[in-house]
Amino acid sequence: MTRRATARGAERTSLHGERADVVICGASFAGLAVARELAFGDDPPDVLVLDRYEIGERQTSACAVPTPWMAAMGVEGAARQELPGMSFSTPHGRARYRLPWSWTAFDYRTLCELLWEQCGDARFETAVVHGRTGDVVHTDRGDVTAPLLVDAAGWRRVLADPHVQPPEATLSRGLEVHPHDDGGTDLDVWLDRDLVRRGYGWSVPAAGERRVGALSYDPHDRVKEPTRAMAARLDVEAVRYQGNWFPHALRAATEDTVFCVGDSAGHCFPLSGEGIRTAFYFGIACGRELSAVAEGRRTRAEALSRYAAFHERHRPAFRRAAWLQRLIPALPPPVLSLLLRALGAQFLVDRAFGWYLEQAHPRAAHGRTPAPVVSPPR
Ligand SMILES: Cc1cc2nc3c(=O)[nH]c(=O)nc-3n(C[C@H](O)[C@H](O)[C@H](O)COP(=O)(O)OP(=O)(O)OC[C@H]3O[C@@H](n4cnc5c(N)ncnc54)[C@H](O)[C@@H]3O)c2cc1C
Repeated sequence: MTRRATARGAERTSLHGERADVVICGASFAGLAVARELAFGDDPPDVLVLDRYEIGERQTSACAVPTPWMAAMGVEGAARQELPGMSFSTPHGRARYRLPWSWTAFDYRTLCELLWEQCGDARFETAVVHGRTGDVVHTDRGDVTAPLLVDAAGWRRVLADPHVQPPEATLSRGLEVHPHDDGGTDLDVWLDRDLVRRGYGWSVPAAGERRVGALSYDPHDRVKEPTRAMAARLDVEAVRYQGNWFPHALRAATEDTVFCVGDSAGHCFPLSGEGIRTAFYFGIACGRELSAVAEGRRTRAEALSRYAAFHERHRPAFRRAAWLQRLIPALPPPVLSLLLRALGAQFLVDRAFGWYLEQAHPRAAHGRTPAPVVSPPR
């Protein structure tokens, strides 16, 4: 069971009339990346971060990122297990790839706490955000105001249109279980239509725990049965469920005074459903634009337009991944198996996964943050 840490009842005082230079809605990967980047500015603004839960309270994913991003964000202390390879299994065989970089499975709460420690004097309050009118954010604890607003509230996107309603939206859905288990050394993926029609199953070992789940690119398809089937296949207990929707298409990055970051802007990469490093990456870009406004180097309008242009520059890569997301489930399984084996040549793996990392590379964190340490290929 998830431990509830969020202050309730009389402990929740009113926030009505509260003002800040920047209000960030959402204190997960995207929101904390923005707040952290703002703290690195020459003249950090007054930042108020809001979330309906305490920081780190609700794990939102299998928590695997390319290892170089752990150092880039100064969160190596949250690492649980490094995963040097990936395997892809189909009903016709298995291909194992040695990656040019590794994955790291991390502890969600520790990672969020380590990010928050880097957020300087930013304030945090638990509050449910209902929406906004102009610069005013409406919450269950009253209205708060800021000239700069960040929507980092995930797929629901609480401050900007369009309000997203599953299943009639460009969303995928994922569900996983977290049994205690010491098995596995790689990030394993199953492409099997008997398991999930359009999507995949996975196993992410995390030192003493395994995150086993399934995702469907079609939001109409349920994922509970595929997740249970994955657990049975791996002979682990189907316990401690967690799941969510996540986007597989970019949305508008800005709406009048609002900057959208992470799943709120559709930054989760199609095909892989990987949205943590992209939340970091776009969060850093957004934080830098907001710093420039706070320091008087840019107007708000300039920052909004520069951030929107940065987001748009990534559209071709997201389109390419979305195309693969449509193509791969449509390939006859024997053809897919042959392709996966053929792509296992090391120079092709290096090229494909090098391109993939390049789309949201940890070097983006260079400058005001510790330089990333890239693991040598094994
Ligand atoms: C089962 C599953 C496994 C996944 N595994 C991985 C993985 O291993 N690696 C990877 O890179 N990606 C993974 N993803 C995708 C990844 O979880 C998301 O892309 C990522 O969490 C996006 O980060 P975010 O900060 O934008 O949004 P979120 O992590 O969803 O955070 C949004 C925050 O906003 C808060 N919030 C929401 N609404 C409100 C409101 N109204 N008021 C106040 N606060 C609010 C939430 O409490 C939350 O803290 C997975 C997704 C699923 C469903």
